[in-house]
Amino acid sequence: MKLAILPALLSIVLATLNSTAHADDLPWKAGVAKAVITPDTPVWLAGYGSKRVPDGKLHDLWMKALALEDQDGNRVVMITSDFQGVPKIMSDRVFELIKQKYKLERHQIMFTFSHNHCGPRLGDDLVDYYIVEEEQVKLIEEYTTLMVEKSVKMIGEAIDNLAPARLQQGKGKTTFAVNRRDNRESEVPEMIKKGIPLKGAVDHDVPVMTVTREDGRLEAVLFGYACHPTTLSFMMWCGDYPGFAQLEIEKNHPGALAMFVNTCGGDQNPLPRRRVELCQKYGHMLAVAVEEVLKQELNPISSDVKSKFEILGLPYLNVITREELVALQDDGNEIKKRWAARMLKKLVDGEQFSPTYPYPVHAWQLGDEMLVIGMGAEAVVDYSLRFKKEFGPGTWVCGYADDMISYIPSRRVWEEGGYEGGARLYEYGRPALRWDGTVEDLIAATVHKLVKQVKE
Ligand SMILES: [Zn+2]
Repeated sequence: MKLAILPALLSIVLATLNSTAHADDLPWKAGVAKAVITPDTPVWLAGYGSKRVPDGKLHDLWMKALALEDQDGNRVVMITSDFQGVPKIMSDRVFELIKQKYKLERHQIMFTFSHNHCGPRLGDDLVDYYIVEEEQVKLIEEYTTLMVEKSVKMIGEAIDNLAPARLQQGKGKTTFAVNRRDNRESEVPEMIKKGIPLKGAVDHDVPVMTVTREDGRLEAVLFGYACHPTTLSFMMWCGDYPGFAQLEIEKNHPGALAMFVNTCGGDQNPLPRRRVELCQKYGHMLAVAVEEVLKQELNPISSDVKSKFEILGLPYLNVITREELVALQDDGNEIKKRWAARMLKKLVDGEQFSPTYPYPVHAWQLGDEMLVIGMGAEAVVDYSLRFKKEFGPGTWVCGYADDMISYIPSRRVWEEGGYEGGARLYEYGRPALRWDGTVEDLIAATVHKLVKQVKE
């Protein structure tokens, strides 16, 4: 009789142990969702300062969402996407709608984009880059509205899919990003061939975060790299190297969602470039770096999330004047000419230019182990190197969050000038030519303030 009861007792004890183990082991809730964003109308491809009419696709473009909820019910949502540049006029609409629909505040969501140059135009992003055609203006408006609706729906799905999960992280490395300010593109292949070290600051880290379910199945893998997705400049839709990397990881792990964030690659290019084989090669290199991390023992992330957000008024050096704009009407640079005419019209219509731009800064602390800093625009690599040094292991510095804006130079890059540091804000439609020299100090002060708040 006693012997017959034993197995039953044993199974109760084991079941209790098991459920305790699960609660400890799966302390988070996570939900994912995705949406195809490949345009089915001839919206032009974005970037490179010219009219780029689409000519088919290599593979689909995607937008993906990861919703996380800690053991106290605090939520954050990370969006990654194959867009070239999400403008404020688009992301603001998404933030407003998800606040109404899902009670998500701005500090709880980061809308990142890879800066993929084989992605479509959106809203007023880089508006003066392109000649103005009425039909295109209409197509972009329609596509942007469709993307706002898709984003909101996708975020809702990710929240609906919240289920017990485990979060872990690790770090890998891959080396194809080259500092494009300090190396001449035409000389890079020869330098690599001869083993001559390339110059300038780079960040070759590949941060990786995994979301796994109770049965050990990989639900999502978030990974980052600091480099422009500008391998290709042709007219076919594709995700450039991050697109290839995501496809390969998803193929290796059926059912898993691979999500890419651009970690401050403002001054980094994949070199050499301009061939599909090179794009596939860089995508493969990045996927291999992620796979190497997945084979290692990963570090668990405890179930606690704190998120803070602030809009910082980022100052221009000088706001452009009516006299300067009038003089630029005859500029030989077509982009500058279009910009000057559009800006002048604004002034004629009674608009006053603000001396600052509303710059978004995020800080998310996940457990004690992971810190995610989110920065708007095309931040140069100095920001990621600086904040990782200042905040230590487990720090992710995501550029290209919420708003495309322009390049964001560090003080060093600002002093040096050139493409990312000099007088190029007209390309982005800002009412000035340069940022003020204090932008790094101001951004760093805000980042430190928010990080202190989320670490409290
Ligand atoms: Zn760029």
